[in-house]
Amino acid sequence: MSLSATTRLLTQLQKTALDAIFPPGCVSCAEPIDTPGNLCGRCWPEMTYISAPYCDICGFPFEYDAGDGFVCATCLRQPPVFARARAVLKYDDASRDMILGYKHSDQTNRAPTFANWMSRAGAELINDCDVICPVPLHHKRLIKRRFNQSALLAGEIGKLNDKPVIHDLLTRKRPTKSQGGLSAKARLRNVRGVFEITPARKNSLDGTVVLLIDDVLTTGATVNACSRSLIEGGAAKVDVLTFSRVVRASNTAI
Ligand SMILES: [Zn+2]
Ligand SMILES: [Zn+2]
Repeated sequence: MSLSATTRLLTQLQKTALDAIFPPGCVSCAEPIDTPGNLCGRCWPEMTYISAPYCDICGFPFEYDAGDGFVCATCLRQPPVFARARAVLKYDDASRDMILGYKHSDQTNRAPTFANWMSRAGAELINDCDVICPVPLHHKRLIKRRFNQSALLAGEIGKLNDKPVIHDLLTRKRPTKSQGGLSAKARLRNVRGVFEITPARKNSLDGTVVLLIDDVLTTGATVNACSRSLIEGGAAKVDVLTFSRVVRASNTAI
């Protein structure tokens, strides 16, 4: 085989390998693109990426840099149970379909791409954690959906960063209504006392720093409830990394 044919074959094999990991088209609109695991030139500028300056605790983005360690009014008024939350991008009209497609339409091949971006946005949190765990689904919903979108992300982030992932660290004691469409207060009520450390994992948390993974942070009620169980179960600290987060004009989250 000539050198150029070998190179062509290698390039093709490399491409096949990448296609197996990443969806071949744009991860949002599926338009063909040259590099798998990316957004196309039309979708990329539409997204709002979350970067500093933001609230040191919940990651709510600020328009102006108020200095290191600055905290938003919501976190000042009522600090969340988790220590820090970070996200890749804003949940808005541009990102909604991409995220819902991943969550509800079996487009699970987006998980490696999302996890790759989350690894960058949450590099500090990943570096600081001892163990990664996902927000669990109730087993009835898991059967219906066939996969836990947060667990897929947690698994990929663990692999990419060589960190241990405990998928069954938390369980949902009872099924809950979907948080979608509920008010902030109703969301709090809906998840209160719902999560617990899986009995077999009860002794594995002593003094550990846990990184909790979810797909979207909305009011923070779910990750806060999970964090409470983890802290009560012995975790020293819980950080939260989500792919996306809702950003309201006034941060009434958490
Ligand atoms: Zn696109
Ligand atoms: Zn905050």
